[in-house]
Amino acid sequence: MGSFIHSRQIAKYVLGLFFWLGAERGTSQRLDSVAMKSIDLCISTMTLAEKVGQMAQVDLGVLWEGETCNPRDGKVVLNEAKLRKAISEYKVGSVLNCGCGTGTHSKDEWRQWIGEIQSVAQRSGVLPILYGIDAIHGATYLHNSTLFPQQLGQAATWNPDLVHKGAAITAYETRASGIPWNFSPVLDVARQPLWSRFFETYGSDPYLCKTMGAAAVRGYQNISAAIFGLPEDKIGDGNQPISSYNVAACLKHFMGYSAPFSGKDRTPAYFTERDLREIFLPSFEAAINAGAKSIMVNSGEISGVPVHTSYRLLTEVLRNELGFNGVVVTDWEDIYKLHANHRVAKDYREAVKVAILAGIDMCMIPNDFQFIDLLISLVKAGEIPESRIDQSVRRILEMKRDLGLFEAPMGLPANEYPLAFSYGFKLIALESALQSITLLKNDGVLPLENGKNVVVCGPAAHNLSLVNGAWTHSWLGRDEALAEKYGLGETMEDACLQYGGGIFWRFPEKENPTSLKSVKVSKSLMKSVKKSDAVVICLGEEPGTEIPGNTESLDLDEAQREYVKQIAALGKKVVLVCFFNRPLIITGLDSLVSAVVYAYLPSDFGPEAIAKTLVGINNPSGRLPFTYPRSSGSVVQHDRKHTEDFHIDFSTNAYKPLYDFGFGLSYTNFKHSPLRLTGQFASIQDTVWAEWDITNTGSRDGYEVAQLYFRDEFASITPSVMHLTGFQKFWIPKGSTVKVRLPLTLGMLSFVTEDLKRTTEAGDFSFWCNNPAVQQRTVNRTYKF
Ligand code: BGC
Repeated sequence: MGSFIHSRQIAKYVLGLFFWLGAERGTSQRLDSVAMKSIDLCISTMTLAEKVGQMAQVDLGVLWEGETCNPRDGKVVLNEAKLRKAISEYKVGSVLNCGCGTGTHSKDEWRQWIGEIQSVAQRSGVLPILYGIDAIHGATYLHNSTLFPQQLGQAATWNPDLVHKGAAITAYETRASGIPWNFSPVLDVARQPLWSRFFETYGSDPYLCKTMGAAAVRGYQNISAAIFGLPEDKIGDGNQPISSYNVAACLKHFMGYSAPFSGKDRTPAYFTERDLREIFLPSFEAAINAGAKSIMVNSGEISGVPVHTSYRLLTEVLRNELGFNGVVVTDWEDIYKLHANHRVAKDYREAVKVAILAGIDMCMIPNDFQFIDLLISLVKAGEIPESRIDQSVRRILEMKRDLGLFEAPMGLPANEYPLAFSYGFKLIALESALQSITLLKNDGVLPLENGKNVVVCGPAAHNLSLVNGAWTHSWLGRDEALAEKYGLGETMEDACLQYGGGIFWRFPEKENPTSLKSVKVSKSLMKSVKKSDAVVICLGEEPGTEIPGNTESLDLDEAQREYVKQIAALGKKVVLVCFFNRPLIITGLDSLVSAVVYAYLPSDFGPEAIAKTLVGINNPSGRLPFTYPRSSGSVVQHDRKHTEDFHIDFSTNAYKPLYDFGFGLSYTNFKHSPLRLTGQFASIQDTVWAEWDITNTGSRDGYEVAQLYFRDEFASITPSVMHLTGFQKFWIPKGSTVKVRLPLTLGMLSFVTEDLKRTTEAGDFSFWCNNPAVQQRTVNRTYKF
């Protein structure tokens, strides 16, 4: 016993030396290898309770005065006894904020609470706590944080560089508040527009999702001196793989979460593993290759198997095949739900056993400590080997080490983050909003002409929650007062007045509607519209995510449809601006109006971006990252199978979305030359280049997105009509031409066979630039090898 205590003390000393005190700063390599040894040594001396504690994550609500979802007097005050219970007694290794808690807080408040938690840990001899948060489109729960368009809007920019910068800024502001771990990005591929989290994704295309996802991971985790304009010696302490200006990313939700059959959140999906690999795996694979440190698991089930129980997906695919060696965390209460909801375990104990043996490292418990007791008892009973626990603890401690928590649990001092909330950050969020705005219809009314009398109305005209959506200052983002108090943005009304010079704006409705379902055209609005030249109607959808965001239908609600119809009946030029969580059906309205601007949920700087687009200061360059259905019952993807084109008249013309994937208009015109393919696929390593020219033939400068598609004409698994396989966004001054050169490899033309292998079969392939259904820019070329 004596010698055990002795070796334990030595291990703690070694850890302390290299982690806590950070005394020696030798070469990073040396420190790294010593630190690695120390983690093993440390684990070998930790008690079972200490190890299991590392695998437990509780919500901040467990630590504050009052109920878990209801802090006393609405204020966060940490409770000493609760802290002691969680940290000293149960040795919990991770805390998160905060599903049902208190909304948004200042950087100093966050630092104070996390500092208190870290200091209890330090006093109790518990390793530093890993604090995780949902900083979804910017630092969600932080006052004055820089908010970017929600992920779907970021995808609509088709500009991975902006996604990268947005993630880097989010990381910086999150870390400034003392938080080193972000549950983002969402890498679910949005194949089901009814799903309440559609707006949280990078859209419906696997290639677009994987490109944007990898860019986000790099932004979160890798320091970019260029983005921050920091001198090299200021970019972190240099010893950690993740600097003190960055956070660990958490890819979610692994995998197949985004296409529940019913469209309702956390309900069953039905796929074969082949489908999973074809559509849902590539985004995770690319992000793992980009170095992602952690992954959160899909709360749902796939063909009867809850993913939290799937050894096949969590260990064989994720670990053995993809080589992921970071931390796998459950989603909210999902081990308990294996028993309570999925009913694949007769009690919580069995649920813990199944999930841990499947490959879970950390349990987002989040509101009690049963998980810890049960896991300890399972190990003691020999039902889970302790080596399995060690494996998870090693991954968790490695992540803590990589974040530098052993040296500095709070990161740098608060004043070392001078750029947080800065004007420079704001400009990048604005640029992201500007490039996301997608013009879907324009009969020439836009840009609005100077001197015109324009009415701005509709439920989203005076509202910030509707332009921001969920995960903004609170989980569901429905509290307008918080958005007004702590957001940096303006409403459409403010933005039009500020940036829309030359137009005589009118805002006849001053009040926010109490409910979207009860919007009505008032008499004064009618009067103003009659006197106007054009009307901008700002439509919205109630903010929501997860189960509260479920909907019965994709149809835009009747009240807003009626509102548009009544205004359109007055015969003025009408511009619709849509702030939706998903593509709500506007068929029928689109033909009544002169222009449709799809804004996604562009966040605080969205209104400025839209106002600048309406008056032509911004030439719109967003392109749809999904297929916009014509009706609720015809949700078909661009990369559909040929048989999905069958029409009732026996033709193959059934694919008629309202607006196609990749579509978006500009105020200028672009001409694409025929596609050229240069090079040969003589061997598997060869690259063939897809080249073409794009000329701006219009009268304004603007961005165009070069999009490269291909089709495998015949294959042993039914081929899709098209696949996106490359894209690049170009700024093209009027009259200028750019040369596009995108690589093609045989691997990019592959598909997943029945025996789950990626293969490229010899045969005919067609390639074209930009979507053939879009602006007749079809250029086909058949290539044989
Ligand atoms: C969501 C996750 C989120 C977690 C923590 C869950 O309900 O599904 O996306 O990261 O809560 O807030």
